[in-house]
Amino acid sequence: MPKVSTIAIDGPAASGKTVVGRLLSSQLGFQFLDTGLMYRAVTLVAIQQSTPLSNDAALTTLAAKTQIAITDTPDGARVLVNNHDVTGSLRDPEVEAAVSRISAVAGVRTALVAKQREMAAAGSIVMAGRDIGTVVLADADIKVYLEASAEERAKRRGLEKSGTDDKESVGAVQKDLEARDKQDSQRASSPLRPADDAHIIQTDGLSIEQVVAKIAQLVAARS
Ligand code: C5P
Repeated sequence: MPKVSTIAIDGPAASGKTVVGRLLSSQLGFQFLDTGLMYRAVTLVAIQQSTPLSNDAALTTLAAKTQIAITDTPDGARVLVNNHDVTGSLRDPEVEAAVSRISAVAGVRTALVAKQREMAAAGSIVMAGRDIGTVVLADADIKVYLEASAEERAKRRGLEKSGTDDKESVGAVQKDLEARDKQDSQRASSPLRPADDAHIIQTDGLSIEQVVAKIAQLVAARS
């Protein structure tokens, strides 16, 4: 019997949590959940419904009543919000700009964390986010915190988004990532930080496969 059934992967924006988590989960036969998609989904609905970003109570109600269904495949995730496919809109600039503000609302987090724990209760899971090892799955069997320099992360995200790593676009992406990281680590509610018992993996210069192999070694050592 495998001794590992919950793996938490946290880290700053574009640190590779999703690609690493997805590949690892398919190797292990676990479910995968990218929790950032849930915060993005609530943010998109708030924008569509013109909910004021300063109205914590309204945002909390919105998060609690929004139905989010995520299907993860090796090629990516498909996200349905209240039965509408919103996959293509979750990385819109308006969502990127507002998501950290909405994620800082304690009531929004409470609603989404409950949904995340429900998914974890359904079977073995790799879950990626900012507060998985510290809050959502605080008793996860393995906790990993992925680090990478802001330059490296901006380069990866720039290539992913626009297929280019020219200096100007990477500079703009880096500014956005750093602004989000700052807000995510300075908020009062579940800030971005490694759990005390997390394995910190510095990923600069490592391939996705190499990072996955490091985590797989941790899993093997526990099994
Ligand atoms: O992971 P991703 O970059 O898609 O996450 C988008 C935003 O969602 C983060 O910048 C953060 O504000 C929020 N988030 C969070 N807690 C999580 C996952 C994401 O606050 N577990």
